[in-house]
Amino acid sequence: MAKTDPVIIVIEDDPSIRRFLRTGLNTQSFSVFEADTGKQGIVEAGIRKPDLVILDLGLPDMDGVEVIKAIRAWSTLPIIILSARSNEQHKIDALDAGADDYLTKPFGFGELLARIRVALRHAFRSQEQSQDGVFASANLKVDLNNRVVSVDGREIHLTPIQYRLLAVLVKHAGMVLTHQQILKEVWGPSYQENAHYLRIYMSQLRQKLEADPTQPKFLLTESGVGYRLKV
Ligand code: CA
Repeated sequence: MAKTDPVIIVIEDDPSIRRFLRTGLNTQSFSVFEADTGKQGIVEAGIRKPDLVILDLGLPDMDGVEVIKAIRAWSTLPIIILSARSNEQHKIDALDAGADDYLTKPFGFGELLARIRVALRHAFRSQEQSQDGVFASANLKVDLNNRVVSVDGREIHLTPIQYRLLAVLVKHAGMVLTHQQILKEVWGPSYQENAHYLRIYMSQLRQKLEADPTQPKFLLTESGVGYRLKV
């Protein structure tokens, strides 16, 4: 076993949550480094060459959003945020600032582990530049090179905007995207206030791709935050 364990930095001021994370992650063969302030976390992220950062948004010395901006100034490494249920806007600000995913406290370890695996896989895929450009999950297949979308082998015709919306979700498959991020990528910066466009086109996509559009299996709503393409 020459392969080194993936390195995770936990930035969290609550010692009981840090212990919970360290204990669980160690059993899964992750190397864990801890920081209890934002400043220390930024330093650790700089020197440990982590594969992933878990960041609590409520830190004593600085806003977690500022920590994300500091790390994003030099790195695209995956950042999963931990947030309090009471603060939806803070969570959205953090995702807009470049965090990849979030968990709301209290969360289960299994849930965290699933998010970590998706984030690491996603980071790895981005590095590989997704060689074949084909996304396939369950019965949905999206060929980004040839712009072909199919469900159960049956080709589905999408309008240019429906396709662009789906392609944005595919590029971030498994990860949450905020309304703002999707609006910006699909329609451009000037459309960021028009969240109803997104609702309309998402509903159209579900009509075309989901077996039961009212019970979506892969075009998932993240309540109050955005959407996620399930992998
Ligand atoms: Ca905290």
